[in-house]
Amino acid sequence: MDLSQNVNAVREKIAAAALAAGRKPEEITLCAATKVQTDETIRAAIAAGIRVCGENRVQELTAHLAAGAYAGSAVHFIGHLQTNKVKQVVGQVDLIHSVDSVRLLHAIDSQADKLGLVQDILLEVNIAQEESKGGISPRDLPDLVRAALDCGHVRLRGLMAIPPISSASGANRKYFSEMRNLFVDIMSEMSDNQSVMDCLSMGMSADFEDAVAEGATLVRVGTALFGSRPPLVSSR
Ligand SMILES: *Cc1c(COP(=O)(O)O)cnc(C)c1O
Repeated sequence: MDLSQNVNAVREKIAAAALAAGRKPEEITLCAATKVQTDETIRAAIAAGIRVCGENRVQELTAHLAAGAYAGSAVHFIGHLQTNKVKQVVGQVDLIHSVDSVRLLHAIDSQADKLGLVQDILLEVNIAQEESKGGISPRDLPDLVRAALDCGHVRLRGLMAIPPISSASGANRKYFSEMRNLFVDIMSEMSDNQSVMDCLSMGMSADFEDAVAEGATLVRVGTALFGSRPPLVSSR
């Protein structure tokens, strides 16, 4: 596996998908999903040009931070976050993608308050309304947006979604398009608010080009950069 070749190949596909959709390639951030990767691989990815690493599990995040493995890169938390683990994440990462309840939101806000900082967050939407998945339902999203805007130590930056593992190519486009509509609706409602809604996080190895075509500003890619992972034991 040649990591820099993979990074370049993914970037080229992002750029091609952006141009085909009339977008600028630089509007899209490539976030490397580094779950199960070693410190060494993370350093190699950063050396190959990765500027955002996305971590899924608090334990791995903490270990890589302690090792200084992310030097030169921003760090995002992209996995399911339990309320009792916010202390290990708030203030340690540049962006938390997975806020999906008022309870979690308030835990993050109060920890950020304690640390005297403002934590950037995304709200995770369960766009395909899958029972097994985290994320707020589209119906309940407006209330969570309002709650986020009421928090003094949280800055709402946008939305995130993990649609179903796509079997057929193009199968998730409708979900990406629905996410884009939710994102635009919220932005227009917030036009007088000082929050910057600039991040729509969607698309993974199997479907990031479709996500870019539908307006993603950040794609989270693991397998296409690092190769396939050993089967995961669920962290939920
Ligand atoms: C693992 C993971 C990804 C990347 O998945 P790939 O299919 O390997 O590209 C993206 N987002 C989240 C939240 C993940 O857990």
